[in-house]
Amino acid sequence: MSFETPQMDSAQRRRQQAEAKNELSVSHWQGELHSHTSTDISEPKIPEDIMEYREGSNCGKIPLELLTRYHAQEMKNSFMAITEHSRDASPEKAVSGITDWFYGMYLNNADWLRQRFGKTKEDLDSAELAQIKALAWENAKAVAHYGDERLENILAKIDDESGRLPMRIFKGVEANMLPDGSFDTDMVEQGRFDLVNCSIHPEVDPEGFAEIVKDPQKYQDLVLQGIANPKTNIMAHIGHDVDQEVVKQLDWDKIGQAAFENKVAIEINLRKLIKFIYRELMDYDKFPKSDTSWRDYFKEKLPELVPILSNPLIVYELKKYFEQGLSIAINTDEHENKFIDHATDKEGTQGEFKERDKRFWIAIKMLERYFNELFDQAGIKQKNIINTYTPEQLEKFLQKAG
Ligand SMILES: [Zn+2]
Ligand SMILES: [Zn+2]
Repeated sequence: MSFETPQMDSAQRRRQQAEAKNELSVSHWQGELHSHTSTDISEPKIPEDIMEYREGSNCGKIPLELLTRYHAQEMKNSFMAITEHSRDASPEKAVSGITDWFYGMYLNNADWLRQRFGKTKEDLDSAELAQIKALAWENAKAVAHYGDERLENILAKIDDESGRLPMRIFKGVEANMLPDGSFDTDMVEQGRFDLVNCSIHPEVDPEGFAEIVKDPQKYQDLVLQGIANPKTNIMAHIGHDVDQEVVKQLDWDKIGQAAFENKVAIEINLRKLIKFIYRELMDYDKFPKSDTSWRDYFKEKLPELVPILSNPLIVYELKKYFEQGLSIAINTDEHENKFIDHATDKEGTQGEFKERDKRFWIAIKMLERYFNELFDQAGIKQKNIINTYTPEQLEKFLQKAG
């Protein structure tokens, strides 16, 4: 099979040019290792359509077959990992959002109301409205509080897609760590995944995490416990949903050492950055096409959009471990993609890809420059960044071999 294209040549050229300057190009980045997909009926008539057909993570936006195809064909990536949430990361929010959605869907389905109550929406009394709300809530819980069956389904789908694309798809998971340090699915322990992103999402159990997120020592102990778990490959977004004052007090020397010794990569999570590019920089009402002031705005914001490496105190602690080989994973924690249009009905999913916006590319170029400065300060080389590996090298890293 040959997938040589002009774009591939220019990617190679960009890599060579960067290497000549002792730098890394965005083309060195060979794949996303933290991504969420979701498949829903695009125009559901009734909540049961969602309950029956939903796949992936509740917070994802793109069907798996399109996201993987986009990365293989358009981005020419050589691998990616699909890492759905083991369970919803914000179950309370998910239930309340889905309840409202379902309630509206029932109320606006005249056929359903007629069958069920023999009435139109306007004629419903308060007891009937309460009954519909209760049904919406029950059904929302069924969708939000999914179990291993959702993960099993995705693993099967990855098997289906894998043969079709010139790209290795790793079977991953973003596994929630609970306050006691265990994961909320046994599938991790059973070795069902090629790649495990270990995440602390305090909203999974607000009460259980209340003390932990306030106390740097307790939070750090949990991070270290996650890193020490032999199944963990990437410690995802350390400090997520935790007060910055607490994050500042973490002992990054200990975290760096533990990650190095356990062959775990520390994640640089760029979800906020991608959201910022999509929602702010690519907002052409805010910054019209001819307006280039978005560049200064972006430059100013970069340090807060690139976590961990933008903090000189953290970098100071980690630097010696980078020299010894500590790894990082640079992930966008992909949930959405502005360049994929899609629609799903009961027969399946259709989609098409849009050309990537020019401003998007300029922003990525600026990001590349910023990352090279950070790499230089931290002593980070290509071998420290697992997203730049070949699929075979990555596989070895994930197996903690050698
Ligand atoms: Zn997460
Ligand atoms: Zn995630």
